[in-house]
Amino acid sequence: MTNPSQPLRQTKIIATLGPASSDPEVLSRMVESGLDVIRINASHGAHERDSATIDMVREVAKRVGKPLGILYDLQGPKIRVSDFSGEPHSVQVGTEIAFAVNRPPEKGEIGSDYDLLDQDIQVGEPILIDDGNIALETTHVSKGLVIAKALNSGLIHPRKGINLPSTKVSAPAITDKDQEDALFAISKRIDFLALSFVRKSADIQKLLDILDSENSNIPVISKIEKPAAVTNLTEIMHKSWGVMVARGDLGVEIPPQQVPLIQKQIISEGLRLGKPTITATQMLDSMTHNPRPTRAEASDVANAVLDGTDAVMLSSETAIGQYPIESVQMMSDVISYTENNSGRMTQRRRRERSVDSTPEAITDAACQLAHHVEAHALVAFTQSGSTAILSSRRRPERPIMAFTTHSDVRNRLSLVWGVRPYKIRPARSTDELIDVLDKTLQKDGLAHLGDKLVLLMGAPTYKMGKTNLMLVYRVGSWPGLETTYTLDDEDE
Ligand code: PEP
Repeated sequence: MTNPSQPLRQTKIIATLGPASSDPEVLSRMVESGLDVIRINASHGAHERDSATIDMVREVAKRVGKPLGILYDLQGPKIRVSDFSGEPHSVQVGTEIAFAVNRPPEKGEIGSDYDLLDQDIQVGEPILIDDGNIALETTHVSKGLVIAKALNSGLIHPRKGINLPSTKVSAPAITDKDQEDALFAISKRIDFLALSFVRKSADIQKLLDILDSENSNIPVISKIEKPAAVTNLTEIMHKSWGVMVARGDLGVEIPPQQVPLIQKQIISEGLRLGKPTITATQMLDSMTHNPRPTRAEASDVANAVLDGTDAVMLSSETAIGQYPIESVQMMSDVISYTENNSGRMTQRRRRERSVDSTPEAITDAACQLAHHVEAHALVAFTQSGSTAILSSRRRPERPIMAFTTHSDVRNRLSLVWGVRPYKIRPARSTDELIDVLDKTLQKDGLAHLGDKLVLLMGAPTYKMGKTNLMLVYRVGSWPGLETTYTLDDEDE
């Protein structure tokens, strides 16, 4: 169960798992330091290993007693240098580098996993390798061969990423590998699927079709890392459960100076549409090797919080870094301090929301009511999670306690700003719901006798998407019900 002694932190923390954090003890300590969601990168894993990791995460979540969402990050049409053994390729500025296409590379040539490179790329277009650390300009294209001139010197290691920011890449949005990985994720009841290199809403529809055909409703998070995705942001958001500002590839595909304003634009659109946003990559990068972050990194985390992001993400810091636990703790400390000392800036953001539907109107009213009656918390009974997400969109000053009968919905809400999710058994009546709420909050020390709460629920109690009831309630004031109704911590 949630530890009431932990400072109340609204912005959530996601950490990428890898060799540095795949030990249950290390992961437990990361969770105790504030971790909410773990990310597994499908680019690097094999299903057998990922399956063991997922089981380990579920075990740790159960032991620590905290809902822990699992995000499985599909590679999408990411192009990479092929695997090779031996020394890395040394590149000298001004020299020409040959890429073998759709055939094994000969001595001195570089291979890639993209068989259409010679069809897609044009002379003059850039090829960026290893997050743009090595930049080349294409000078020759023929069947099976692409030649490019190096614009700087460096080393090319196996499996490094290749970005083609000016090229119309014809690779499918969902590769065969993505399809297999998605089916694996469904079989493991993953909480979120992220899709890399989304360009338009039709790309997400393809993944939704796969999920549909398997009767799965796993939420899809679109990674915004292509210029086309920035152009098509609103239509992409409408199709997605949430989005990730994937600044690693984004800052290679577009000039890095444009990334900060695009980050703000994406977060602001997410707040407008009620879509959770994740700010990712290099947030505390230097903590991969150092116990303390740079001041610029601390500022970066704080600024994402001030922008209004739902979650911030750690990558190499926790996947391969020397300080995975300290990185989570530092992120938590920066978030808590920023949230607790930035009142006026946060208030300005709260005023910016529009209200376009009945669910938006009622959650909006509940947030205002919670403020006016100085409620201790806002409580949402939610079947799909949407009442909690819409309440969060308003960024209320009070915590949002979300009660749901579904463990997958509880896990999803672990990513959403300000939401503390709980799983409960289905109730027969509104009275039973209020009874369990009362007992749970008091038992957990999250509310005390007499505390005022604003409750949002649907009547009749079972129906999805029917939030129609708002109630101001004092803890302990409901007529003593002797029900056997209890909180349900077991997964389905
Ligand atoms: C990114 O590019 O910022 C990102 C999160 O994706 P990946 O780590 O898969 O490159």
